[in-house]
Amino acid sequence: MLSRFARYPLTFGPTHIQHLPRLTEYLGGDVQIYAKREDCNSGLAFGGNKLRKLEYIVPDAIASGADTLVSIGGVQSNHTRLVAAVAAKIGMKCHVIQESWVPHDDAVYDRVGNILLTRLMGAEAQLVDEGFDIGIRDSWLRALDEVRARGGKPYPIPAGASVHKFGGLGYVGFAEEVRAQEAEMGITFDYVIVCSVTGSTHAGMVVGFAADGRARNVIGIDASFTPAQTRAQILDIAQKTAALVEARPIVEDDITLITDYAYPAYGVPSRETIEAIRLSARLEAMITDPVYEGKSMQGLIDLVRKGTFPKGANILYAHLGGAPALNGYSYTFRNG
Ligand code: PLP
Repeated sequence: MLSRFARYPLTFGPTHIQHLPRLTEYLGGDVQIYAKREDCNSGLAFGGNKLRKLEYIVPDAIASGADTLVSIGGVQSNHTRLVAAVAAKIGMKCHVIQESWVPHDDAVYDRVGNILLTRLMGAEAQLVDEGFDIGIRDSWLRALDEVRARGGKPYPIPAGASVHKFGGLGYVGFAEEVRAQEAEMGITFDYVIVCSVTGSTHAGMVVGFAADGRARNVIGIDASFTPAQTRAQILDIAQKTAALVEARPIVEDDITLITDYAYPAYGVPSRETIEAIRLSARLEAMITDPVYEGKSMQGLIDLVRKGTFPKGANILYAHLGGAPALNGYSYTFRNG
């Protein structure tokens, strides 16, 4: 589906699929749990899901003649870290807006983890006091104007690289990659668990897995706590991406988004999220974060415990990255 789109390689290649035997056993052993390690997908600034999306966006950025990548996220944004990484790698400048999306306890929250790495790679990280919203933001539009006013040529990349004409392509590729790995491994994954916020990761997977009738088996776990907006964005991106790759049209019913685990707010872990993060770390040394993967891990654990999946099912947990944000949550984990 993707061969006619230009792709600039930023990742090592297909990501590893790993069986999680201790987590499987801990949860009763009725279903087998695997993880696809998108968090280990690249040597660029610790990697993560954004790189798969950016592989299809970079050729357009280069062709546009731009000299500055301009993007946006929260203070501890994984996305802006990876836009900064890509800018460094391709020799462009980078200007990123970091909004105050998350209330926090840690005194060093705006100096460690993702934002430290973003600064280290030479990006201009501009802190803006605005709350959480996955939509198009005035602060980002102003940053584009600022780059132009300084005589630069900006290339706009929206939050999460999602609302971009090529934002959904990377995770169509994920589905194609899983199909090839299933053939090699001799198993089929009955369900895919994916954390969803700005929506293009989930949307791309839906388009890719619709090709073999598994769109609804991609189970999105909302971490935005604004699920109506996330759901609408997933559907919109999936429909546009399906049209772009000339795949079967996507309808509302193709989107499965579970909204039970994002509480109490975006970026704020619940007691259950913290337990899930500890469990994954202690059973599998698989590190998840309080903003994204901790919540999808919480969802996976709860859904398995509730007996949601039939006995014998194979479940693929998409680990999308995000561990650097943990550095901004030292207070939460001060007792281990
Ligand atoms: N997991 C991590 C680590 C992320 O950085 C993001 C980005 O928002 C997500 C999950 C959610 O992906 P998406 O924004 O494509 O829904």
